[in-house]
Amino acid sequence: MKDILTAPWLTELVRTCTNMYAHGWDERNGGNISVRLDEVQLADYVYLTDVKRRIPTGFRAETLDGMYFLVTGTGKYFKNVQYDPAANLGVIRLVDGGETAELLWGYSDGGKFTSELPAHLMSHAVRLAIDPESRVVMHCHPNNLLAMTYIHDLDERAFTRTLWQMETECIVVFPEGVNVLPWMLCGTNEIGDATAEKMKTARLVVWAQHGIYGAGRDLDETFGLIETAEKAAEVYLKIAHLPWKQTITDDALHQLERRFGVKAREGYLD
Ligand SMILES: [Zn+2]
Repeated sequence: MKDILTAPWLTELVRTCTNMYAHGWDERNGGNISVRLDEVQLADYVYLTDVKRRIPTGFRAETLDGMYFLVTGTGKYFKNVQYDPAANLGVIRLVDGGETAELLWGYSDGGKFTSELPAHLMSHAVRLAIDPESRVVMHCHPNNLLAMTYIHDLDERAFTRTLWQMETECIVVFPEGVNVLPWMLCGTNEIGDATAEKMKTARLVVWAQHGIYGAGRDLDETFGLIETAEKAAEVYLKIAHLPWKQTITDDALHQLERRFGVKAREGYLD
């Protein structure tokens, strides 16, 4: 067996957690990430028959049965992940129709996966049905997006259009826009269901007065989605209270669609 701490999929997640903490998106134990892994990626690093613990997940996810995930631990601080990956992260295999997580590595201090596992796995199931290459679900608390949910209309079309207008690359990076959930109690199957439902039409789902969920094919793509939306929100907050002389027009957004071969969410542009 190779040393798991040298596995590319592990070191990339460790670096991502450190980077997200540095961005100020993951104060204290805020934020969580799950990455779907293939058996072949794991086989050199983990004994797949050596189940350390069986942990109930509290919900069913039949389509994910037998799949492997690297998941951040509940109550863990992103800032500490780099110093002790084995305590802060875990590799699980879902069995019993998703109702049980078999722990293969990690959570070495007796811990378990994030309390937001329902939202993660329900989102994985939805995104996988749309894109078989989808692998990552990421949740964090970016300052400017969070602030924007206090002062901006939460209507998804209006929210998306404002972000698209704040930076030219936004419509290219997330042409499907961002979806928005009103404030809901976190850590529940209900918010997991609601998030997954929103994931059917966009890779970004804002949780009002809380943070954001992103989904993508890899950590870079998912981080980049959130990073771009967060930058747009920052620009918005810098100018929201000032008189605007100009903005990115719908005509300009249509030009970007043509230039970059993307299609804006139906009905979102005039
Ligand atoms: Zn959160």
